Amino acid sequence: MSQHPRIRVLLVEDSPDDARLIQVLLGKATEATFVISHENRLVKGVNRLKNDRFDVVLLDFSLPDSFGLDTFLSIHEADPRVPVIVLTSLDDDELAAHAVREGAQDYLVKREVDTRLLVRSIRYAIARQTADDALRDSEERYALAVQGANDGVFDWDLRSDSIYFSPRWKKMLGYSELEVSPSPREWFERIHPDDEPSFRRKLGAHLDGETEHFRLEHRMKSANGTWLWVLTRGLAVRGPDGRPARMAGSQSDITARKVAEEKLQHDALHDDLTCLANRVLFMDRLSCAMADYERTPTNQFAVLFFDLDRFKNVNDSLGHPLGDKLLKGIAQRLEHYLRPGDTVARIGGDEFAILLNRINDIPGAIHVAERIQELLGMTFSIEGHEVFVTASIGIAHSATGYRSPDEIMRDADIAMYRAKAAGKARYEVFDRDMHQSAVALLKLETELRLAVQNNDFAMHYQPIVNLKSGRIVGFEGLVRWMHAERGIVSPNSFIAIAEETGLIVPLGWWVLEESCRQTRHWQERFASDPPLFISVNVSGKLFLKRGIVERLVSILESTRLPPESLRLEVTENVVLEHVDTALDNLQQLRALGIQLSIDDFGTGYSSLSYLQRFHYDELKIDRSFVSRLGHGSDSRAIVETILGLASNLGIGVVAEGVETAEQADRLRQMACPHGQGFWFSRPVTADAAGNLLAAGPDWFTGDGGLPA
Ligand code: C2E
Ligand code: MG
Ligand code: MG
Repeated sequence: MSQHPRIRVLLVEDSPDDARLIQVLLGKATEATFVISHENRLVKGVNRLKNDRFDVVLLDFSLPDSFGLDTFLSIHEADPRVPVIVLTSLDDDELAAHAVREGAQDYLVKREVDTRLLVRSIRYAIARQTADDALRDSEERYALAVQGANDGVFDWDLRSDSIYFSPRWKKMLGYSELEVSPSPREWFERIHPDDEPSFRRKLGAHLDGETEHFRLEHRMKSANGTWLWVLTRGLAVRGPDGRPARMAGSQSDITARKVAEEKLQHDALHDDLTCLANRVLFMDRLSCAMADYERTPTNQFAVLFFDLDRFKNVNDSLGHPLGDKLLKGIAQRLEHYLRPGDTVARIGGDEFAILLNRINDIPGAIHVAERIQELLGMTFSIEGHEVFVTASIGIAHSATGYRSPDEIMRDADIAMYRAKAAGKARYEVFDRDMHQSAVALLKLETELRLAVQNNDFAMHYQPIVNLKSGRIVGFEGLVRWMHAERGIVSPNSFIAIAEETGLIVPLGWWVLEESCRQTRHWQERFASDPPLFISVNVSGKLFLKRGIVERLVSILESTRLPPESLRLEVTENVVLEHVDTALDNLQQLRALGIQLSIDDFGTGYSSLSYLQRFHYDELKIDRSFVSRLGHGSDSRAIVETILGLASNLGIGVVAEGVETAEQADRLRQMACPHGQGFWFSRPVTADAAGNLLAAGPDWFTGDGGLPA
């Protein structure tokens, strides 16, 4: 072995003289043998470096195809592990120093260089680079070692059946060095019973040579009785006979990761707010229940789908944070009440679904629905507020025969809407007829949407008559749907859907504008004192809208109808359900001079105190009272009371639904100011109403116009 190391040098230098100089200088060196490869262009140098191994590069900074720092960077990139010494003839210290900062080992000025200097620089460069590399290697090894230190290690001698467990292995499970004997039992007996079969199966497969290594995530019981998740990895070492002699491996604590994974999975299947199951999990459980039922038809089940009545009010009046608390409280009560095998889920905002497993019959499901109503009806105390809720519950039962979970949910939903439509706070059990009517409803909804787009509506007008003079003092505007196939459709069959779908808003504006326009037209043709008024039904949706006042002002301006000639009819419930907004709007409307009328008085909450509080201008006695006027004295007493009250409060009264001369007479005798009903006239077209005005009928002197 030579004492002289061989050092492979790549010299990249374009000047033949300088190249020769370097070769001569290195040739004189005695302490090493330099094997020099020379290239005169950067590209060639880079290529060379990629293909051959060198111990050092001597690099001229200015080459025909590259200059300065770029020259160095290209070379350095081609092989970062080879030290580079920059040669400069420019004596440009700054540039060379920059190269050193970027990773060059040294720089030399060509004119000043001699053999000693050159050799020393090369040797130092190589030594430094080697040290850097070693440091990097050891850092990597160190990192690995640290990582390994967290793992417990085992080494199992299969022949003697004893195991070495490293201290870390024992500590991971909470044991000290002496607490664990070298017996395999110490290991296997701590494996979670649910994980044990797969542990044994995988271990067997590996020892039998079926798998390359053993790897399993499983639970281990720790000293304090809690379960840890660990990852066990191992490798069997085989003897000359091919049979496993040893198996060594590691055990890492992966509990944190598992907990995070489980939380992710839990979150994906549960509702954040209430921690109940979410729709995904619910549908999954429902599929299982269906499969179970198919296998064993006695395992019947039912779905209860419900939605809180007027939950929006709670949110609006108490605020969302309290609304959230209420939902949580509800979730708790439901969970507490239901059996462990049942599933309760929050499907959306205030919608819940319950899967009742093994429920024998429909009465069983009904019983649960009733109990839920009771639970919700008990007050919740939320930050000092006493709140209780009701729900509309739809029930679908497996006996109906379903093919998919979606079908069941759809039917429970239909039944729930039925319950809502029937007056809320109740349940409905789905039946086939409901499906038919749900389909019909959907059709109606679609048609109505189109009708609003095409404006397939007309206004009819029903006179309101002064019962003293027998003269028409105003009209109620009543909307009609001019349906291509069904003819004239009454509002009773579509107003509710229009409200539910929001179509009532565009429709309502049209009704108002059209009624005002028509009435102004009549006022101009038929002057009277006071001028003719128009009474227009306004849906809660429209009445409670922000901006209703501005919009009304603009309608009144464009139609030139005096505000005093417009009466808005609202039902009591609309106002009571949204007292604050309603009061606000009421005040502004009154300030404008618009009149307000309570429709169907006596059928809603009918709180007399509200009558005073809201300062209505008029109330309309519902026709159910008027129609009973003839029979018994009860209705008579009620009507008399209402009339007395109204006159005390200075409120006007219209008796609705006057159908007979007898009713009209009675009302006259009771000094009821105004009446409206078929006996005077049915609601008629604008033209026919115009004719009525022209004829100027007086219904009580016999020249009554056109009673139907
Ligand atoms: P309502 O406001 O109580 O209107 C009175 C209803 O009673 C009208 O039915 C009218 O035709 C009917 N009626 C009038 N006199 C008699 C009578 O002597 N006997 C009987 N049995 N009925 C009589 P219509 O036009 O079918 O309207 C029904 C309901 O639809 C209205 O009740 C009102 O709540 C609503 N509605 C009508 N038009 C509109 C509208 O433009 N917008 C809104 N939001 N609702 C409307
Ligand atoms: Mg009305
Ligand atoms: Mg009415």
